[in-house]
Amino acid sequence: MDATPECLDCGACCFSRLVNYVSVTGADHARLGDRVDALVRFDGNRAYMRMVDEHCGALRVDSASSKLVCTAYETRPETCRDLARDSGACHGELATKEERPRLALARGRARRD
Ligand code: SF4
Ligand code: SF4
Repeated sequence: MDATPECLDCGACCFSRLVNYVSVTGADHARLGDRVDALVRFDGNRAYMRMVDEHCGALRVDSASSKLVCTAYETRPETCRDLARDSGACHGELATKEERPRLALARGRARRD
């Protein structure tokens, strides 16, 4: 595998086709503050980050700069904090989803053109 990319050039771990992907604990929910209703949805009594276009709704796919920005970075859920760049879990994400951010950036560019 190539060298691990910078997270702003990657974003693979923020992508999933699952509706219930990033769990939001009570502490996560409180930390999200004013944005919590926009970013979190409930499935029964469990909370998850909302998914949009097969990625977390907090992820901004910026086709102009080709960057993938977590707009909730300072208040992101514990699950996201636990996934360290260059860890085994990170490499697992890259192995299974590396192409998805590139495809999302390309879709964004196509919409702009
Ligand atoms: S933690 Fe790994 S998979 Fe997630 S954005 Fe960073 S480099 Fe990509
Ligand atoms: S909260 Fe941020 S780091 Fe976590 S999945 Fe969403 S965009 Fe990615």
